[in-house]
Amino acid sequence: MSVNIILLGPPGAGKGTQAGILTQSRGMVQLSTGDMLREAQASGSEMGKIVADVMAKGQLVTDEIVIGLIREKLGQGGSAFIFDGFPRTLAQADALGDLLAEMGQSLDAVIELRVNDEVLVDRIVGRAEQARAAGQPVRADDNAESLKTRLMAYYKQTSPLIGYYHAKGLLKAVDGLNEIDTVSADIAALLA
Ligand code: AMP
Repeated sequence: MSVNIILLGPPGAGKGTQAGILTQSRGMVQLSTGDMLREAQASGSEMGKIVADVMAKGQLVTDEIVIGLIREKLGQGGSAFIFDGFPRTLAQADALGDLLAEMGQSLDAVIELRVNDEVLVDRIVGRAEQARAAGQPVRADDNAESLKTRLMAYYKQTSPLIGYYHAKGLLKAVDGLNEIDTVSADIAALLA
């Protein structure tokens, strides 16, 4: 199925979880700029070093860097993409539209995962505790201070995309407060 979608929502809304489920159930391809940036850091690349501090603080890295990452991935071809954590600014949204058009593809839906701030704090703190308990590395930005900055970045820079995609007739919303299975069933129904 060649449908390209964006999962939109604040940190902790469940974008990564739902993208993982769509990858399994539909063979879609998850493109997470957060994962790509963390990989760049882990590999010790120059770019990884440049973004490390900004990411740990919970701020957005530059449009140029993330658009470059997405351009590179899309340049490898393919279809049925789930954009997870991208776009996060209007400039990124415009760039994504252009890149898909160059490939002769389009965006089919933007799914907003609606949640409230209290649950986000619990989920992010829970994610850090789970990682700690499992002896896995805890994300440098999964702490109360960075979360505040990440939420602010979401409301200021990313939430305007809700109106942007609504105007294009692409926006659909699901209740991200529900159980994981319910959310994935709601998303499946939207894509049916
Ligand atoms: P995420 O894993 O999506 O929560 O992203 C983790 C961090 O990576 C964010 O807080 C930003 O610092 C950075 N990041 C990820 N995606 C983007 C993006 N599209 N634009 C700017 N910064 C991003």
